[in-house]
Amino acid sequence: MITSAFRDFRSRAILAFITCSILALIGHRVGLMDVSLDLLSPTTLVGIENYDEGGMQSSLDLNNHLITVACRLSQTKTYSICDLKLKYSHDEKISQGINLSDYQSIEIVASIKSPVERANIKLHLRNNNPAYSVEDIAVSDKFNTIEFEIRDEITTLNVPTKALFVAQWWKKERNIGYEQSHVDLSNIVLIELIIDDAKVPGDYVLTLHSFHISGEIISEPDLLMMILFLLFVTIVLLTIRQKNSLKIMSTTDSLTGLLNRRGLILKVDKEFKSTVANHSMSLFYFDVDDFKKINDTYGHVVGDELLAAICLKVSELLTEMNLKVHSSFARLAGDEFVLMITDCDNQKAVEFSRRIIAVLVDPLAVSGCEVKVGISLGVAYSNGEKITFQELMSRADSAMYCAKKQGKGQFKLFDDSLASAIYFKKNLAENLKNALLEDDFTLRFMPIFTCSDLKPTRVEVLIRCKSAAMHGITPDIFIPIAEDFGIIESIDLWVIETTFNTINTYFIADNRTAPVFCINISAIELTNNNFPKQLKTLIEKHGIPPSLIELEITETSLIEADETSFRILNELKIIGVSLALDDFGTGYTAFNQLLNYPVDCLKIDRTFVADIDANNPSKMTMVNAIVSIAKSYNLVTIGEGIETQEQLDYLRTISCDYVQGFYLSKPLLFNDLVVFLNKKK
Ligand code: C2E
Ligand code: MG
Ligand code: MG
Repeated sequence: MITSAFRDFRSRAILAFITCSILALIGHRVGLMDVSLDLLSPTTLVGIENYDEGGMQSSLDLNNHLITVACRLSQTKTYSICDLKLKYSHDEKISQGINLSDYQSIEIVASIKSPVERANIKLHLRNNNPAYSVEDIAVSDKFNTIEFEIRDEITTLNVPTKALFVAQWWKKERNIGYEQSHVDLSNIVLIELIIDDAKVPGDYVLTLHSFHISGEIISEPDLLMMILFLLFVTIVLLTIRQKNSLKIMSTTDSLTGLLNRRGLILKVDKEFKSTVANHSMSLFYFDVDDFKKINDTYGHVVGDELLAAICLKVSELLTEMNLKVHSSFARLAGDEFVLMITDCDNQKAVEFSRRIIAVLVDPLAVSGCEVKVGISLGVAYSNGEKITFQELMSRADSAMYCAKKQGKGQFKLFDDSLASAIYFKKNLAENLKNALLEDDFTLRFMPIFTCSDLKPTRVEVLIRCKSAAMHGITPDIFIPIAEDFGIIESIDLWVIETTFNTINTYFIADNRTAPVFCINISAIELTNNNFPKQLKTLIEKHGIPPSLIELEITETSLIEADETSFRILNELKIIGVSLALDDFGTGYTAFNQLLNYPVDCLKIDRTFVADIDANNPSKMTMVNAIVSIAKSYNLVTIGEGIETQEQLDYLRTISCDYVQGFYLSKPLLFNDLVVFLNKKK
């Protein structure tokens, strides 16, 4: 959308440019750019004189816009001349004349009466170019003459100024090269119209009707060149503008106007070369508590406004505490924000964190609603320590995670205990990667029984890691870390493929009846578009009937579910596997929402089963409610974590479908499972 806005602006600008260019060209053609100068106008003409020589007698008559020189030749001499002088300078020898160099043609309208049939008129233009106009040589007047012939009717002479060259004889005289011989019109001091060398006695009358010099502000080829040049400049400017805007957009968050993740990283790279050593710097990482619930309750528009309102509050606080100039504020994604403040010591950081939490205590007014929000804030501080910005971010992120775990609406400073927690996680992630490489994972199989007659018709597949470095570390601990470090997809695929291999080798190859295998998959798979395809490929590769497979996803993973998650769940259903919601009851799914999830089974979390106590019937309400609602939605129920006969009995009385738990069987090695299943046949 944004790029199309650019395109729109660019096409509009180019269209406007082309329209202006066409108008300019048309204007040029119809003469809007023509200019003309009346050489007889009193504003340009300084004086008019007549001159005669060689038996001529002249008189000047200025009448009614006509200039007439009447000359009488009484007796012929060697050289007779009658001259009309138009002066454009007060001092024709040296002073400043008029500049006619921007004009392209001279037009003279004149007539002559003479005793001969044809009379020759010469036009002299005199300037003060030292190359050929020499003050003390009288003939130097003749340096740029055009000679033309007019008769007694009014004759119009139109001469292009380009055709005005210094006369040949004068060129020789003054040794002027061809390049210099073009008449220089920049400083014309005198123009003469001369009846030259009259040979026959009688009356000669020269009348000048009009005298113009005209031209165009710009010639058409020059105009075209200018348009092309301006077009080029416009395109360059538009491209630069677009590049700049794209750069700003790619580094700015459109909702809040803050930097985005890329913008922040670029800024840090530029200012600190990504190492924050030698700088005292505090990094604040925060997100909005239960933002998804706010979005679900009030809608996305209110959610967006709320984020903008929070940013505003934080910005106001920065200004109030004089920290704004030292700060860089960015929205990383969704409701996650990072604020970096330089020259901010530990004490100031704590003070600022307290104030942020405090300013957000009051509900925010957005779209006519008063919304109560809280944030969880993590703070990491570096005082010249040699760490990268990314490390500082992950410290602040860990501190925020910790603040959230400790109960939301508070801040937590990164400290040594957090540092060792991070070290533990990183180390564990390395061990998990190695375990994958060295095939150090194994599977346990936990039977699931029909509640009524305790037949083990299902089996839950549970992963274990046998490497020494992972001793005593259960999936409860390592699965979330595998998720954080991007290892979970490989682990899930390993579990699925190993299970399929086992089913194929033992059950399918030997035609044995197999139980349904319930495989746990991570919530991350609900964002992994490739997962359904990968599962289908493995099912086909190992020839597994999809009805033998149930995938368990935790109910909490659906809290963050979006369109992609639902699409993936539906794709899995299409493959033919069934889906179970694991640890049901811990994710606060509204019962009516169950209709939206394409699931077949609810696994009641063992904390609710543990509550089953004959002496305290109120605690059993939850299990009872889950089972009856599940029935009304045609969902299968499995009670997890059965540890006592009492729990089993109770689940039977409320007609729960299946049960699993240490009371009935612990997770088993595959060989033990086979023995167990055979025994229970
Ligand atoms: P879960 O899917 O709810 O698995 C059941 C967990 O409860 C298992 O722990 C099982 O040993 C334990 N359990 C079952 N019955 C009882 C009982 O009566 N009492 C007690 N105290 N515990 C019982 P485990 O194997 O440690 O797994 C923990 C969690 O780790 C699982 O919870 C599941 O969410 C995850 N997980 C396990 N294996 C995998 C796997 O292969 N892939 C993925 N993505 N997650 C797995
Ligand atoms: Mg499970
Ligand atoms: Mg469970």
